[in-house]
Amino acid sequence: MGEETFSKPAPAVDKKPEFQTKPCKSCGKAISFKPSWQHIPNYCPECKAKYRAEHGERKMVRKTCYSCGRTFTFPSTIKHYPNYFWECRAKYKEKKG
Ligand SMILES: [Zn+2]
Ligand SMILES: [Zn+2]
Repeated sequence: MGEETFSKPAPAVDKKPEFQTKPCKSCGKAISFKPSWQHIPNYCPECKAKYRAEHGERKMVRKTCYSCGRTFTFPSTIKHYPNYFWECRAKYKEKKG
């Protein structure tokens, strides 16, 4: 019989997968990320959750300025909670000299 021409296998598609992986800095587990991301995570979601559980999420306290009524936020970790928005505090300081 005649020669049989073997059809070449289709060339491998050289297409980069949308997601790439890198090892978690803590546990080494592969983290999927898109190279286009601005912030590529260093830790897997589990390690991040663990970190948050250990260190606590930084809470922000919301307050209304006694002077101008503007709402402002500040971290709950500070000792003295301000009653005035920083601009008003600055003004107050100026007046006082
Ligand atoms: Zn991890
Ligand atoms: Zn104010």
